[in-house]
Amino acid sequence: MEKNKITNTFNQIVSGYSNLVKSKLGLSSDSDEKIFKARRAICNACEHKSALDRCLVCGCPLAAKTRSLNPLSACPNNHW
Ligand code: SF4
Repeated sequence: MEKNKITNTFNQIVSGYSNLVKSKLGLSSDSDEKIFKARRAICNACEHKSALDRCLVCGCPLAAKTRSLNPLSACPNNHW
């Protein structure tokens, strides 16, 4: 059980940061970038976004979280 949780967390981190690198290099698809930008706009307006650009509910860095396409990375408050 604990191993699955660690694996899931690792997969989410890999997805988020690999897509962050792809975005920075201009390698993301237009459809993925639309998803990332829509999520980003929601997080930027959210009361749970910290000054250090983290989600105060789950603790994740938003630059990666908003780019993870792993379904387990969804907003913990169901905003996206
Ligand atoms: S992930 Fe959800 S709760 Fe966290 S900052 Fe973004 S919108 Fe807010």
